[in-house]
Amino acid sequence: MSKVRVRFAPSPTGPLHMGGVRTALFNYLFVKKLKGDFILRVEDTDQTRYVQGAEDYIIKALEWCNIQFDEGPHVGGDFGPYRQSERKAMYRQYADQLIKSGHAYYAFDTPDDLNAMRERMKAAGVASPQYDHISREHMQNSLALSEDEVVKRLNDGVPYVIRIKIPRNEEVKVNDQVRGWVVVNSNQLDDKVLFKSDGMPTYHLANVVDDYLMKITHVIRGEEWLPSAPLHVLLYKFLGWENEMPEFAHLPLILKPDGNGKLSKRDGDRLGFPVFPLNWTDPKTGESSSGYKERGFLAEAFVNLLALLGWNPGNNEELFSIEQLIELFSIERVGKAGAKFNYEKALWFNQQHIRLKKPEEFLTSFKSILGNNNITSNDEFVLKVIALLQEKTTFVSDFWEQGSYFFNKPKDYDQKVLRKKWKDTTPNDVENVINTWSELEDWSAEKIEAAYKNCAEQNSFNPGGYMQLLRTLITGKSAGPSLFETFEVIGKEEVTNRLQIALQSVEVNG
Ligand code: GLU
Repeated sequence: MSKVRVRFAPSPTGPLHMGGVRTALFNYLFVKKLKGDFILRVEDTDQTRYVQGAEDYIIKALEWCNIQFDEGPHVGGDFGPYRQSERKAMYRQYADQLIKSGHAYYAFDTPDDLNAMRERMKAAGVASPQYDHISREHMQNSLALSEDEVVKRLNDGVPYVIRIKIPRNEEVKVNDQVRGWVVVNSNQLDDKVLFKSDGMPTYHLANVVDDYLMKITHVIRGEEWLPSAPLHVLLYKFLGWENEMPEFAHLPLILKPDGNGKLSKRDGDRLGFPVFPLNWTDPKTGESSSGYKERGFLAEAFVNLLALLGWNPGNNEELFSIEQLIELFSIERVGKAGAKFNYEKALWFNQQHIRLKKPEEFLTSFKSILGNNNITSNDEFVLKVIALLQEKTTFVSDFWEQGSYFFNKPKDYDQKVLRKKWKDTTPNDVENVINTWSELEDWSAEKIEAAYKNCAEQNSFNPGGYMQLLRTLITGKSAGPSLFETFEVIGKEEVTNRLQIALQSVEVNG
């Protein structure tokens, strides 16, 4: 079998939506497992929709996700150029070939001609008028006009497009790896433009020609392209490339959280979550959109959550590294139904991936947050703090928000806890705890706990009754990571010192 080659073929019309990243990811997982090549092809034939910076954004976003290309505009390769605008000269010959073989024709219709056709057909009761095997007979094209007239118009330089001539009443079959056989009658298809008057091919022609020339074996793309697949199948046939036709797999849509339609940027804005991998500022409007990266997501978590939108491993496991995903991925396990996006679940994935990492991996980012808060601290201490906090945090930024007390004495104490737990005997009991802990030689969580329980027994107070209060007096907060481990990390002197300060300064309000 020939080498497996797949491509991700975005149009640089704006930032890459997370659905686009998912398409790139599924291609990547599929091809890496089969040790094939992954190609980035920039489909920029539509000059009117070109957006400055979009290509760069796409490359950076996928780099962040650790999705690497073997070929592309940024890395080169044997099948380049990899931008369609730079391949312009290659397409015309295929359009000409189709005209010669009778599968395409010149069409000289002006926008007014096209509008008039639509009006006519609507008036005749056609719900969605199109340029097809019926209407083409009354239009300004080389099938309807005399040969002399066509030659004259061509010689006079009258602008034209080249349209495919869709055959009448034929079954067109697409074998889709996700959906099985998809069959349409050609009467439903319109004579799509293949080549535009500006000398550029349209998406359809360029896409098929490039997949052929780049020896693409599998086309894995979003479901929105399924309606175009029959046309592509016809193009392979008409160009004599039927035996080289790639396999098709159309991925299910990513849906809004309520399952009601495709997930869009507007849903993200409305519900407060990003739909793009990285921050993006529109160069024309200046409007900016937030990205998962800047929101604090780990690339690993983002990739993991995307992988499970439309694919499943066949069991209940949910946490995977990209290497594991490569190992497990198969098109057979891609579902037909749209996949509902759930931001709460996305947060859960991030939390889980934070737990899976080594504290060292957060050292630089957390130290920079500490620096911004004027804290300098030794790495060993910072690593211990991270190890404790990473069990429960969703974002690295939470390390500071939830754990600044490791570095600073509390400024105030959770009043709710004080009101509930502070009793007349408390100062005396806490004094005893301070004394017990001051004498402790081995300041480890285990010993701290044992000594505390011992102290409670000797002084006849209930150890459980003070745990939350002690946390509050030492950290200011009512909850946090494992209690005695927290005390161990804060250190003996600091813990006893904070308790002493608390005894002098605590005021129980209300
Ligand atoms: N340029 C198309 C897009 O922007 C590519 C579709 C395909 O993969 O064939 O999604």
